[in-house]
Amino acid sequence: MLATEDFARHAARLLASEDEELVTAIACENHRQQNSLMLVASSSVTDPSVLACLATSSMNVTAEGYPGARYHAGCEAIDPIEQLAIDRARALFGARYANVQAHSATTANYAVLSAVLNPGDVVLGMRLNHGGHLTHGYSVAYSGTYFTPVNYGLDDQGRIDYDEVAALAAEHRPKLIICGATAYPRTVDFARFRAIADSVGALLMADISHIAGLVAAGLHPSPVDHAHITTTCTHKQLAGPRGGIIMSGRDADTVLPATGRTLAKTLDRAVFPFFQGAPILPAIAAKARAFARAATDEYRNTAQRILDNSAALAAELTALGHEVVTGGSDNHIVLLDLTRDNVSGMAAERALESIGIVVNKNRVPGDTRPAAVTSGVRIGTNAVAQRGLGPREMRVCAGIIHTVLTTMRPVGDRDFTLDEFTAAELRAEVDKLTAEFPLPRYEPSGRP
Ligand SMILES: *Cc1c(COP(=O)(O)O)cnc(C)c1O
Repeated sequence: MLATEDFARHAARLLASEDEELVTAIACENHRQQNSLMLVASSSVTDPSVLACLATSSMNVTAEGYPGARYHAGCEAIDPIEQLAIDRARALFGARYANVQAHSATTANYAVLSAVLNPGDVVLGMRLNHGGHLTHGYSVAYSGTYFTPVNYGLDDQGRIDYDEVAALAAEHRPKLIICGATAYPRTVDFARFRAIADSVGALLMADISHIAGLVAAGLHPSPVDHAHITTTCTHKQLAGPRGGIIMSGRDADTVLPATGRTLAKTLDRAVFPFFQGAPILPAIAAKARAFARAATDEYRNTAQRILDNSAALAAELTALGHEVVTGGSDNHIVLLDLTRDNVSGMAAERALESIGIVVNKNRVPGDTRPAAVTSGVRIGTNAVAQRGLGPREMRVCAGIIHTVLTTMRPVGDRDFTLDEFTAAELRAEVDKLTAEFPLPRYEPSGRP
């Protein structure tokens, strides 16, 4: 068989010669990414060396079970791949236990919920429209229909209301408390959550899908030894493949009375055989590669730039008269409340996209518009920091966003018009930035 490098080239050629329609569609997406500023907070740029792992022959292997204990023959060569991913995840996060098989963070969370709860048990998680996630106990999702959800939220400053968390925990005696969020711009106090969990005998799960890169870089406190269980996706700040992992720190070897097994063993059995079948080996290889990259000084510098950028963006948008929820950011997220600007989140999202800035509409505290429209946008600095844009460029971006928000004419809540001349000028400014800061390492000449 060809070496990995030759194989990738050969495989891409086969695709190009046999499926022009699909190749054209893929090329369009490459072009869109190169030429727009991705400020979606869940986005980042997956390194080509991570992508290379996905197009490899380990896809051909069925490997139910775990390294050294599989249900199929033919796994001895892939076991070291999964073991590398496990070892690197543990080293990166200082965890005693890691399971790298979850197909996504959603699956990781549901494996955990299934492992430690019985149907109908109470789970206490953050309210969806205050920044929580569908998997944290929400009525239209599995998390809120098979279990009994109770939700905490934000205080009127937009910060997690820990007193409410404690009061709800005391009243409802949840078996599991979930912390971590999908649209929260501030530091999460994991120690405080653990104290609340301990006060009612609950387990604590921290879902760090959004901030895993900052945690790995030591730029956000780690939950690994505070929470009993920590989950994260691997494709947001970690810039890895689409997937999830489950970890545990000092509680990994605690025996759970409900299962009679250690927490680690309980979690392994929850992923397989309870919740999933065979793992996706190429994705696991890609996770191993992403963990190695996240352990480098270069990655730490990028993580610091993510923070510097969100601080600069929040400060400049505030200076230009916009309302930043909580007045700033401790992580990669800047949540903009557009109530004062008199435009909906949906109209703003569409107007910004029309000139090459990609954000997502997001509900803000006290929002009266429906979730599909909203009164805010969520802006994230992962991908632009990876491309090398810094605080200076963030101030330019803030200026572009400001011009869009102040010159667009909303048409109802869902549409907009933007003066053609202004739009062309702004598009040219975006083009200048994307040309100056190409996707890192996507071309041999690209920046490191
Ligand atoms: C994005 C996100 C998830 C879901 O991740 P997937 O891998 O896309 O399923 C779970 N939890 C939180 C907090 C998230 O932000």
